[in-house]
Amino acid sequence: MLKNRRSRLEPFFEDNRLEAILFTNLANIRFLCGFSGSDGVLLLTRDKAWFLCDSRYTAQAAGEVREAEIREFSAKYEAVCSLIADNSIRRFGIEAAHMLVSDFRQLSERLAGCELVGIGAALDTIRSRKDPGEIEALGLVARLASDSLMAVLPALAPGVKESAVALELEIEMRRRGADARAFEFIVASGERGAMPHGRASDKVLRSGELVTIDFGAVIDGYHSDETVTVAIGSPCAQGREIHDIVRQAHDRAIASVKPGISCRDLDAVARNFIRDNGYESFFGHGLGHGVGLEIHEKPVISPRSEAVVEEGMVFTIEPGIYVPGFGGVRIEDTVAVTADGCVILTHAPKNLIQL
Ligand code: ZN
Ligand code: ZN
Repeated sequence: MLKNRRSRLEPFFEDNRLEAILFTNLANIRFLCGFSGSDGVLLLTRDKAWFLCDSRYTAQAAGEVREAEIREFSAKYEAVCSLIADNSIRRFGIEAAHMLVSDFRQLSERLAGCELVGIGAALDTIRSRKDPGEIEALGLVARLASDSLMAVLPALAPGVKESAVALELEIEMRRRGADARAFEFIVASGERGAMPHGRASDKVLRSGELVTIDFGAVIDGYHSDETVTVAIGSPCAQGREIHDIVRQAHDRAIASVKPGISCRDLDAVARNFIRDNGYESFFGHGLGHGVGLEIHEKPVISPRSEAVVEEGMVFTIEPGIYVPGFGGVRIEDTVAVTADGCVILTHAPKNLIQL
């Protein structure tokens, strides 16, 4: 399994003529060697691997890390530099999208004769295609989060605070076995719905308002991400209209997911539909993003994306319309790409639920 994952690094070794790659991004480290703690580095050559951590994590690493020699350090970059020098590594890659400038300076000053090659976020694409075990884990956490939302929805009523909805949802997820919430939930009602990332506030829900709830859980490092927009009582005509347009944009995009379509074209399926219905300027963000060991990862589904959809990718489809002074609607599902389409991992109904 790890051999297969590490083989995805070969193009980076090849194209950049690298002797090693130093990983500092914890999601990439977890993917490549199994370590789930919050501090450590992984150095990989084509045939050797070293995982370095401090004494807080030595026992944990012994239980988790596979196919790498574990070394304990008291000063991280001193240890990394010794390892690089001891193995006569002259040219190695670093994760330019994740390394602090101060750490980069330490490394380059200590390794004067060595070439450090900054590789951008492209390195994160090694996690874009999920293996079957990952898709199972993502399906499990998505199901738990959807079920938790459905259990909490009946409590939404006029007078209930957005923050209370967020808290109840988190408690429900934890009760059902989630390790944590995946991010700070968005519960945005009425005019606040115009803020795509309106975190839950002390505002109370009112009759006739739309409420956008964006939520997710984490189990064993894998995240879920889903959004519903529900109505408290009967919404106004414009609220219904916007919900219907976003729903159709969402459904059309999901129906278009298959290996080979570019992420840009997939974005356009939803964006063009929203444009044709007169709301183009009210949909500012990309259509979706990968979900896995991080809540936002590759691929990016947007008008600027260079990525192409491949079997095994797991990403969100989340069109929205946000009208300042009125409110907004977003509908989000997470899908796993199959050989000829996709399966939807998230399960809350996407029709306009009236509470
Ligand atoms: Zn979301
Ligand atoms: Zn999302």
